[in-house]
Amino acid sequence: MKNLKIIFISLFCCSMFIANCLKSNVLLSKDYKDLVDVTKVNPNIKIDIRYATSNNFTKQVLYSCAKCYLREKVAAKLDKIQKILERKGLCLKVWDAYRPYSAQKKMWEVFPNADYVAPPERGSKHNRAACVDVTLVDLKSGKELVMPTEFDDFSEKAAVNCFKGLTVEQIQNRDYLQNVMTQNGFTPNESEWWHFNDSEWVVYDLLDVDFEDL
Ligand SMILES: [Zn+2]
Repeated sequence: MKNLKIIFISLFCCSMFIANCLKSNVLLSKDYKDLVDVTKVNPNIKIDIRYATSNNFTKQVLYSCAKCYLREKVAAKLDKIQKILERKGLCLKVWDAYRPYSAQKKMWEVFPNADYVAPPERGSKHNRAACVDVTLVDLKSGKELVMPTEFDDFSEKAAVNCFKGLTVEQIQNRDYLQNVMTQNGFTPNESEWWHFNDSEWVVYDLLDVDFEDL
């Protein structure tokens, strides 16, 4: 019994040690040469960077400026999607793209809940500049299409396979966005209809470059 206790304590200490190593060894890159300004790649894409305002779920301004940057190849995919949408009288609106690692830490301090925010020791795909939060806008009216929820609504209705309590219009608009994004190089996030990862996000490092330095 005593031996068992020693083994348990040793295992616990070992796991704590490994966890601490992982925590302190987040690999952060300063190499942002392939980051591009989405507004320059395609000026028709609408930008509303919510974390540069207090109009977000934290109710705090988390970004020092409203810049919309992505990896060059990710932005090229978005440009292609925008052109497809324009032929249908629609347009992309980006709510979030590259998020500096410093802003990720700030977000975690304000809202330390791993169900909604990626902890700094793991980092977010937004820190890799390899994902986007988007919705659709009608070109004629300039208004956003009706979607199942608002941005950063963490209810069940935000799930991409939710049908309960949604109108046909909400489902059709969401599914159209899902289709156009996934057919052009992005993978969906099951619980957030607005979030799309570049299918090759894994090749990009976590970046620690502030907006001012871009
Ligand atoms: Zn996102």
